[in-house]
Order: sequence, then structure tokens, then C-alpha cells
Amino acid sequence: MLRSVFNNGRGISLVTTPQIANLLARQTEFSSVGSDTPLSRISRRGVTQHTTSQSKSIRATQPIQQGQLVMVNKAVLLVHPSYWNISWPQREEITRLAISRLPGGTQKAILNLSSPPDQINLYLSYIVWAHAGFPMVIRDQKHNVLFTGISLINHSCAPNSHNRVESISFSGVVTAARDIQEGEEITISYWVDSDHSMHLRSFVERQQYIERNGRFRCECAYCEQGKAKDEILGSLLDQQKSLQQKLESSSIAGSDLPAAFKLEKLYHSLGLEILMNVPYNIIAKTYSAMGREKLASVWLERAANILALSGVETPQQQHGVDAS
Ligand SMILES: [Zn+2]
Repeated sequence: MLRSVFNNGRGISLVTTPQIANLLARQTEFSSVGSDTPLSRISRRGVTQHTTSQSKSIRATQPIQQGQLVMVNKAVLLVHPSYWNISWPQREEITRLAISRLPGGTQKAILNLSSPPDQINLYLSYIVWAHAGFPMVIRDQKHNVLFTGISLINHSCAPNSHNRVESISFSGVVTAARDIQEGEEITISYWVDSDHSMHLRSFVERQQYIERNGRFRCECAYCEQGKAKDEILGSLLDQQKSLQQKLESSSIAGSDLPAAFKLEKLYHSLGLEILMNVPYNIIAKTYSAMGREKLASVWLERAANILALSGVETPQQQHGVDAS
């Protein structure tokens, strides 16, 4: 199914069941011509594509502050989970059909995702396999979406930006998790959903996981340091475990507050701001145990904000719940 007027004429192709395609077609966002939401107006501000013969990346063209929007994109292709179970030739045929019906500019932008660019005879299904790792849950089915901009952002095991997919608006949203310098590469986590815990694994465990799941080889700045950060990670995990045990046994007290703030510092020193909801929650619960409810709610709100930026969608935010 195709909607070529979607997103100011950039179009979107849906490879899914007729039932889900009909459900999506009824969404206001999908059926409105040339929708111009506030989000799309500020998309791609302050970043640019950086291309070498080896790789592509997105870099900041100006300093970006923590919490600022880095990029907003609307999906150009959505694929049903069964897409991954069909044979390669069939998948290639379907992908070619889905992409061929998109407007020319969008087709070009999809080809631009491949590295090296402009390869003749390139498998389009390979581009989808390599770049459509963004999940969008529709009727409890984990679809994947492809973006032309956000799909160019590389993974880091300690990324400087949050990324989330808003299924209601078909948008991907990237927000700075910490201050980003001019010229710095924008990075996000490809370990979405439950795999987010992979950021707290040792260098060797991360590499093994990446090898097993094999969509890419991680050459992020964090991994380039090899095992150097494993020791700090070890103290972070020890500190966190001890605090969580105290929380579970309701023995946490004001004397644990310095340890809770130390945990927050350890997250910062590893560049794991995308997971900062964990120490924030522990700080909140420690304040709560001390009877300081106002401070507790401030830290709880901070934790909730981090989760929102990471795209933890509530069932109400997902497609199809109202219609089922
Ligand atoms: Zn890495």
C-alpha cells in the first residue's frame, strides 16, 4: 500500500496485512495531505551528513544542548514482521515494488543509505535489513520502519542521543541525551526495547552480542577503548546492585544518598545518559524513604522524562488499541 502525498509528498510505502493497512489508512496523520506538524518544521536542524569512502554519519553543525531535538523524520517504509520470514528473492521483489512506487526523491534518499553509495545492482532488501531496525508496534505486531535521515545515524554503545519512534505520527525522534559539540557525530542506540540493558554489559559481552545479532560491527568510540571502561562499569553494577537490594528489603535510608548520587556520576562518566532513569529512580526512592516526598517527585519526574525520550510507549500510544 502506498500513500505518495504523505509527509509533504515524500510518500510512505506499507508492506503489511490488508487489515493493518486499512487501520493505518484511517489515521488522520496518514490521510492528511502535506501535513506540517510543529515536529516536522524543526526536523534536521543543526546536523549534516558526513560521507567518506568507508562510511556515513550524521554530525552536529552547531553545539546541541542536552534535551534539544536533533532530528525528526517520518518513516518512508514500514514492513510487517512476516517480511523477515520470506525467502530473499521474494523479499527483494516485494521491496523493489514497495520502493519503486515512492516518489523519485525518496527513492534516491533510500539508495543514499547504502555504503558505498550508488551501487548498481544493489539489493534493496539489504538496505531495509541493514537500516530498518526501528520497531513500531501496530496491533501487537512489531513492524519495522525505515527513515531516510535517522537511518543514517550510527550506533554507539554509549550514545549521545535518545531515539524513539512515535507510531501515531509515523515519526522517528532523536533528542540529545547530553551536550553535543559542534562537529561531533550524532549516535543512538540500536538496542531498543529490552536490549537496552546491553549498554551495561562488558566490552566482550557487547561484541559477542553484536556478532550474534550481526547487523553491524561496532566501531563506536566506547568500544574503541576496549576493556578500559569495564572496571568503572563493574563498580557501577556493584553500587547499583547494593542499592537495589536495600530498596527491595526496605532498608534504604538517608545514609545511602551519597551512594545513590555516586551511581548517577558513574553513569555520567561512562556516557550512559540514555539510561539515567535508573539512578534517578534510585535517588527518588531514597528521598521517599527519608520522607522527603517533594524531592522524590522531582527525581521521579526526571526518570520519567528519560523513559519518554527513549520511546517507552504506553499501550495507549500504540496503533490499533482503540480499534481492537
Ligand atoms: Zn560499541
